[in-house]
Amino acid sequence: MKYFSLSGQADKVSFREAAIRGLAPDKGLYFPESIPALPPDFFKTSIYQMSLSEAAFQAIRPFVGDDIPEAVLKQIVKETLSFDFPCKEIKPNLFSLELFHGPTMAFKDVGARFMARCLGYFNQTRQGERITVLVATSGDTGGAVANGFYGVEGVDVVILYPGGKVSAIQEKQLTALGKNITALEVRGNFDDCQSMVKAAFLDADFSALNLTSANSINVARWLPQLFYFLSAYRQLQGHAPAFVVPSGNFGNICAGILIHKMGMPVEHFIAATNINDTAPRYMQTGKYEPRPTQPTISNAMDVSDPSNFVRVLQLFGNEFTEIKKYVSAQSYTDDQTRETMSKIFQATGYVTDPHGAVACRTAEDYLSAHPQSKAVFLETAHPAKFLETVENTLSTKIAIPQGLQNLLDKEKRSIPINSYREFKDFLLEKSV
Ligand SMILES: *Cc1c(COP(=O)(O)O)cnc(C)c1O
Repeated sequence: MKYFSLSGQADKVSFREAAIRGLAPDKGLYFPESIPALPPDFFKTSIYQMSLSEAAFQAIRPFVGDDIPEAVLKQIVKETLSFDFPCKEIKPNLFSLELFHGPTMAFKDVGARFMARCLGYFNQTRQGERITVLVATSGDTGGAVANGFYGVEGVDVVILYPGGKVSAIQEKQLTALGKNITALEVRGNFDDCQSMVKAAFLDADFSALNLTSANSINVARWLPQLFYFLSAYRQLQGHAPAFVVPSGNFGNICAGILIHKMGMPVEHFIAATNINDTAPRYMQTGKYEPRPTQPTISNAMDVSDPSNFVRVLQLFGNEFTEIKKYVSAQSYTDDQTRETMSKIFQATGYVTDPHGAVACRTAEDYLSAHPQSKAVFLETAHPAKFLETVENTLSTKIAIPQGLQNLLDKEKRSIPINSYREFKDFLLEKSV
């Protein structure tokens, strides 16, 4: 499989190159040259006769090609999927696909673990050349990437996070590991962190450093997210569901559309967003018009210019009418999100986190209009990661899982960064 740049200028590359580079040299996102179809009986029969990890291997294999030997890739997929993805029916025909049973309790674990293992493998044949993974985080990505890459030979991870603007649990997930993981505590907000990372990729002074990105623009982090949709489909025993995906950068929903294009029956895709509603407005008007980002209680979705949106468009040949057939989008305010969290809790006892709640509300609306359907919403983070919001909204205490509790006792280690210059000095110093 070759990958081309959606900006259209750069040379085609293999999976290996695309994963090591992150972004194409023309700053475009890499996209697979063709969408492979799985054999027709794969989704009818075979998928039930194999383990999730075997099915996931079959689905990802064509994207990796010969860059990773079959046995190694099988092992990578198996290690990536070493926890559960239960799809729970919380009301008739309304399912919560829980993606928070991994080490950092948010869905980004799968992408980070897969990418880390792929880079670890590629690095074995790079004769000592180290790779530096740069990542800006507003909370969950940094923890998942730190955890996924911890101890991977030949790879250093540098995480930039906005000081004082991530939760206590999230901060410990970034800062307490040490070893090949360094946390930079930036004075500023998430956008400042993101601009520093972007500037570093454009900075000629770093050309000797192998810098890559661990955000979902990286194909090695984006593609494995299709495993979730496979898992739900298997658990629903072939009933083609409508998937509701709480969306920020649109990496997750884009991976779902990809496996659908490979042959998996899906009734419909719905992107659920908070008031950062560039995509819902696009679905109404056909015009892509980002506005300034506004903070919300579902902060992992506070994105107004979703980086994977170009991939979604590409999957439909950039035809607005085609997109509208298969995808809708809906947005809700924080008040509506809290109201949903309370209603669902009162009616069923089920606790949603703010991101899952936005999607849950969207799914309920879909079911009112399509009572014969099954709607699966992706519950992307454990409610305990958003403890204050959840407890205040539900007026109840929720249990903190042991893994998160243990973290709170660990020591925070971070380096303060006040400017791009300081960030640059840090990176240059590190590389000598
Ligand atoms: C990252 C994240 C999202 C958004 O996912 P995208 O792939 O960026 O659309 C939703 N919920 C949670 C909890 C997240 O961490």
